Amino acid sequence: RSSVTFPIHSSLEDALSLIRKALEKKRIRVKIEGDRSLRVTGIPNELTQVFVNLLQNAKEAFGESDDEERWLRIHLSRDENNAVIVVEDNAGGIPPEALERIFEPYFTTKHSSQGTGLGLFMSRMIVQKSFRGSMEAFNSLKGALFVIKIPLAKTIS
Ligand code: ADP
Ligand code: MG
Repeated sequence: RSSVTFPIHSSLEDALSLIRKALEKKRIRVKIEGDRSLRVTGIPNELTQVFVNLLQNAKEAFGESDDEERWLRIHLSRDENNAVIVVEDNAGGIPPEALERIFEPYFTTKHSSQGTGLGLFMSRMIVQKSFRGSMEAFNSLKGALFVIKIPLAKTIS
C-alpha cells in the first residue's frame, strides 16, 4: 500500500472489470472518453474503490423496467494542474432534497439491505485525503453527474 504515480485510466479499467458483469446484466452501456494518459499520485486501489462506488451507485440508480437506453459515461480531461474526471449516468438523477446530503456518512435512500450510505462518504474521503483532490455531485439533464478533480502527477521533463 504505497503511493505511486499511475494513469487514472488503469484504476478505471480495474473497477470496470470488477463490475462489468453486473452492468451488462442490466444492459448499461459504458462509454469511456477523453485522455487516457493522465497520471496522478496515490494508492491505485483507493482510486479503484472510488470508481467501484460510483459505478455501483449508477447501476443501482437504474430501475428495472425503463425502456430508454441506459448509459454510463466517464470522461477524463485536465484543467491547468488537475485531472478532471466526470462520471455521468442517465438514471434519472439524485432527488433534490438528497443532493446536499449524499456525502454524509450513513446517508442512504436505499433499503438497509442494499446500501450502507458510506460509499460516497468514503469516496470523497479518499479523493480529499489521499489524492488532495475534490469531489462534487450535480444533476444533469438525464441523471447524476460527479466531478472529481485531482492534482496531476508532476511530469519529469
Ligand atoms: P448507498 O449507495 O449505500 O446508498 P452512497 O454513499 O454510495 O450510499 O450514496 C448515497 C446516496 O446517494 C444513495 O442512497 C442515492 O440516494 C444517492 N446516489 C448516489 N449515486 C447516485 C446516482 N448515480 N444516481 C442517483 N442517486 C445517487
Ligand atoms: Mg453506494
